[in-house]
Amino acid sequence: MSKDLRGLNMIAAHSHIRGLGVDATTLEPKAASQGLVGQEKARKSAAVMLQMIKEGNVAGRAVLIAGPPSTGKTALAMGMAQSLGPDVPFTSLAASEIYSLEMSKTEALKQAFRKSIGVRIKEESEIMEGEVVEIQIDRSVTGSAKQGKLTIKTTDMEAVYDMGNKMIDAMTKERIMAGDIISIDKSSGKITKLGRSYARSRDYDAMGVDTKFLQCPDGELQKRKETVHTVTLHEIDVINSRTQGFLALFSGDTGEIRSEIRDQINIKVGEWKEEGKAEIVPGVLFIDEVHMLDIESFAFLNSALEDELAPIVIMASNRANAKVRGTDYRSPHGLPFDFLDRVVIIKTHPYSPEDLKQILSVRAQEEEVDLSPDALALLTKVGSETGLRYAANLITTSQLIAAKRRAKQVSVEDVQRSFTLFYDPARSAKFVASFEQHLLGNNGAAAGSSAN
Ligand code: ATP
Repeated sequence: MSKDLRGLNMIAAHSHIRGLGVDATTLEPKAASQGLVGQEKARKSAAVMLQMIKEGNVAGRAVLIAGPPSTGKTALAMGMAQSLGPDVPFTSLAASEIYSLEMSKTEALKQAFRKSIGVRIKEESEIMEGEVVEIQIDRSVTGSAKQGKLTIKTTDMEAVYDMGNKMIDAMTKERIMAGDIISIDKSSGKITKLGRSYARSRDYDAMGVDTKFLQCPDGELQKRKETVHTVTLHEIDVINSRTQGFLALFSGDTGEIRSEIRDQINIKVGEWKEEGKAEIVPGVLFIDEVHMLDIESFAFLNSALEDELAPIVIMASNRANAKVRGTDYRSPHGLPFDFLDRVVIIKTHPYSPEDLKQILSVRAQEEEVDLSPDALALLTKVGSETGLRYAANLITTSQLIAAKRRAKQVSVEDVQRSFTLFYDPARSAKFVASFEQHLLGNNGAAAGSSAN
């Protein structure tokens, strides 16, 4: 559950991306690798950021990926997500998603923040298992038959018992010997024989161990088997929220979570951290179309990033100068100036025709569509004139048209037909302009008749 990628469409469009495609040591981008093509500078910057995230250096920082539409901003963020460790949380959010009737804007952001922070919890398991390698009794300390230390070594643990008066039932009854697979219950010290891994001639009679004196009061286990699992702060919130219960995790219907619960959990997690039981794993929160956030949300982000428990926030915007929502002033990328001041900016640039061609070709492969060289050339031309996203969408529609005529390969005619059937934004705008009188205006009346 730590990678929370919402919006199926958003992911499907980037399913060909498997990483940033950079050299592991130099971080230099390879021309085309792991599904990413071109955009070298931005990829290198993203790789440097990623390295810092992995080293845990950038919690509470904000990065803005800025560039024209369809230049791979989301693709870059997805590439970073793919390269994070398996237990580093990555949450993706389109800024407009925070405007919902279910919860306030700040609550939605708070939840997104907490979904992006992992808590790696170390737990000592109650039962330890292993194959017995050696059984030793050391009476050298006391010399008495009933006192001393019993050590059981298995392949991955070592248990040391003080020999008191209680017999180790399992050891005597089941005649545990080297080569057996045993489990030891941590709390009771009880040893159970689970089976034998392979025959061994030595048993502890042969080793000179008198089973009558194998005694086991509360054993002290020296080496413990540790299990580590990572949950997000949000998951801990939901599980501990009395009104919600953990089932809400599956339905996604978490509603608002009271701030007292979060405060208590922060204290608890702080304690676990101090006791060495838990580690905080700052993850990544990706906010797409960040210019859709309003001034209140930016104020929230500004203070939330100061918090001790903060993820790294990566944002994307395709706006140049835009009005900051909820204010009357304009600023670069629609971000308030004080917020802009704290972000590092990665720029993406329009693609060259060669890059476009290669991206379209990677996309076609991903969708298992066979494009004729002419069809690919035409799609590339369409892409340079109307944008990569529209051209990529034509791959699927052209394939459907090709399939209708039972062709295995998409031809240039299929792409042409697709182009006439489906409009790109520019042609659509032209169409709107020329047929304005016949379309409905904002107030529901025909635009021509409502002009005032
Ligand atoms: P917008 O500003 O409109 O949201 P964007 O910059 O986020 O656009 P993407 O959604 O990342 O653009 O790119 C559009 C499509 O092209 C996606 O399917 C994406 O995976 C693909 N794409 C973009 N750049 C690259 C690239 N360098 N290599 C491979 N695929 C890419």
